Amino acid sequence: MFTPLAGRSVIVTGGSKGIGKGIARVFLRAGANVLLAARDSSALDGAASDLAKEGDGRVEILAADVSKVADCRRIAEAAVEQFGGVDVLCANAGIFPDTTLAAMSEEDVDNVLDCNVKGTIFMVQACLPALEASGHGRVVITSSITGPITGYPGWSHYGASKAAQLGFMRTASIELAPRKITVNAVLPGNIATEGLADMGEDYRRGMEAVIPQHRLGEVEDIGYAALFFATDEAAYITGQSLVIDGGQVLPESPAALEGI
Ligand code: NAP
Repeated sequence: MFTPLAGRSVIVTGGSKGIGKGIARVFLRAGANVLLAARDSSALDGAASDLAKEGDGRVEILAADVSKVADCRRIAEAAVEQFGGVDVLCANAGIFPDTTLAAMSEEDVDNVLDCNVKGTIFMVQACLPALEASGHGRVVITSSITGPITGYPGWSHYGASKAAQLGFMRTASIELAPRKITVNAVLPGNIATEGLADMGEDYRRGMEAVIPQHRLGEVEDIGYAALFFATDEAAYITGQSLVIDGGQVLPESPAALEGI
């Protein structure tokens, strides 16, 4: 059995909705205390009241923008102040606006890289002292299949940002190994979230058709994987990525799905 995570201090960036909220729910059910960080205070309030009755852990919120280094530090400080430290950082906040390469502006690229890449790097940096002090620090980055494995028109900048997170992870996991901090990544396929719903019904139906399980993932599917990386028993796993996609990346061609 896994050592219980009850009482551990967990930060989930982008925890106000979607995958982040699912990750938070799973950690709360495991008895951990969770700080949710995102920009929109009203969405954070809503998430905190939705999650309040999950498990025995406390849920706290902080309005902050991970693309700003000062805000990353505020998030780490808030977790230390509220829960006495940081055991787990789930660097999950991300944006995925779609724009073709031909139409892409410098601002489009900056926005995606600032949130998805800089936001990950500086959140990890801000949490380093507290993660090290815990003696079992865990970083779980939410990357994606898009970029590291697959591509999708409109997401060249997004795909670059998600692949960049894995490049960061591999060196960070080496640098942080002596501090007993592991750094791993979850790579979701298509997960039913508010952000994905914005892509429309046609997108959803098209994806369901090419996923061997013929359904989108649930946000908690990502939470369970993050929880595993956070356990004491996963201490020897670092610098690794886990695809959670219902088999989406597996078919070699459309023929592989015929009759499936
Ligand atoms: P979502 O439903 O749009 O939620 C995104 C969360 O991130 C929200 O809480 C949002 O709150 C927060 N956020 C965005 N920009 C932020 C910033 N600068 N600072 C702080 N918080 C910020 O998205 P999602 O689908 O759950 O995606 C979450 C993560 O999973 C992303 O990293 C995404 O790339 C990854 N992912 C998602 C899918 C999928 O199928 N849904 C697949 C692969 C990977 P505010 O807007 O209020 O800040």
